[in-house]
Amino acid sequence: AQKIVVAKPVVELDGDEMTRIIWKKIREELILPYLQLDIKYYDLGLEYRDQTNDSVTVEAAKAIQEYKVGIKCATITPDEARVEEFKLKEMWKSPNGTIRNILGGTVFREPIILKRIPKPVPGWTNPIVIGRHAFGDQYRSTDFVAPGPGKLQLIYSPADGSAPTALDVYDFKGKGVAMSMYNTDESITGFAHSSFKMALAKKMPLFMSTKNTIMKKYDGRFKDIFQEIYDTQYKAEFEKLGIYYEHRLIDDMVAQAIKSSGGFVWACKNYDGDVQSDILAQGFGSLGMMTSELITPEGDVVESEAAHGTVTRHYREYQKGNETSTNPVASIFAWTRGLLHRAKLDGNEPLKNFCLDLEAACIEVIDVDGVMTKDLALAIHGKNMKREHWVITDKYMDAVNAKLQQKLAARGA
Ligand code: NAD
Repeated sequence: AQKIVVAKPVVELDGDEMTRIIWKKIREELILPYLQLDIKYYDLGLEYRDQTNDSVTVEAAKAIQEYKVGIKCATITPDEARVEEFKLKEMWKSPNGTIRNILGGTVFREPIILKRIPKPVPGWTNPIVIGRHAFGDQYRSTDFVAPGPGKLQLIYSPADGSAPTALDVYDFKGKGVAMSMYNTDESITGFAHSSFKMALAKKMPLFMSTKNTIMKKYDGRFKDIFQEIYDTQYKAEFEKLGIYYEHRLIDDMVAQAIKSSGGFVWACKNYDGDVQSDILAQGFGSLGMMTSELITPEGDVVESEAAHGTVTRHYREYQKGNETSTNPVASIFAWTRGLLHRAKLDGNEPLKNFCLDLEAACIEVIDVDGVMTKDLALAIHGKNMKREHWVITDKYMDAVNAKLQQKLAARGA
């Protein structure tokens, strides 16, 4: 069969440990045999990051900016133990943080839904795509322990030298705590554009949640910025697709999400996103089935990856020569989601169909044929799981490849 031609390059970011092993097999067996693809390869494995003093991460981010599509394997974010283990020159920063600082944009997580896997929230039959505004608020706050009685004020001194504004916050009668936090119109605006762009890409309605009934000015600003951008720049396009945007009070949103059947994009403020994205990950079953996409405010650049880490525990078994059953689905979807963005940018229909076939193959092998990795078998069988309920990673991926070939043949490719 002829390979599908992908005219423009994609940027591949290799990673660490178990996911690096799986990553190679995905590239060699599920991608390259089918696509004529120009890959700009960057090795973000920890050894090479250390060798290059982490400049490889910055170069990779610039390449993503240039080619608009980044496809990333999970990477180690070093801590003290990793510095010791790899004898690192420095405790290099999280590659994801470095890349996001260069690209800007917002990360959205989306679960891959399986029929066979019982969900803690059974009603969630469609994905909830959740985005977290990863700037400011509690994460850039200044907090303080008041040692005893005293007056707390918030002072803003304009840069132009005009008179400062002093707000009385509290009169402490005894010991207590205090905190001050901020955000910027620039960052909220970028967050809004990324959120609208993601909803359009997914063709799903968008909700943005705040507590504006309590924080009338602070959260009110989020609400107003989103509403104004929606009304002036996105409403017409949303209506054409039959979708919409609405602001929701965070408590109403949480209740609505639990009762819903999914099928929407949820833009969360920084702290809410931190908490809610973990609730959603659990609610949909397995970390091995959660994808992650960074989208820039302009919507032209997408970087995709699995939401999980390098699965170190499995890698230790692999190193001992033991059989491993790590779920590769989110890593495969990192490739398909990145390539789908390439297909959209280039108007490449055969590439789009290939990606959809590969995604469907991953799901059908589990849902229809009952062939799956151990994490999923455990979600189904719990304590009663037996060895015959799951296969090793390679066997699962071989089954996906066979299913993919059937689908491509059926399309006459
Ligand atoms: P992890 O996601 O690798 O594992 C967390 C838990 O989920 C483990 O019990 C693991 O066995 C299970 N799990 C995760 N993915 C799985 C899969 N595909 N199949 C089966 N089980 C799966 O997170 P961790 O153990 O906290 O971190 C390991 C390493 O990954 C760390 O060095 C960390 O820095 C890195 N990390 C990277 C990213 C990223 O690159 N985006 C994200 C998180 C963690």
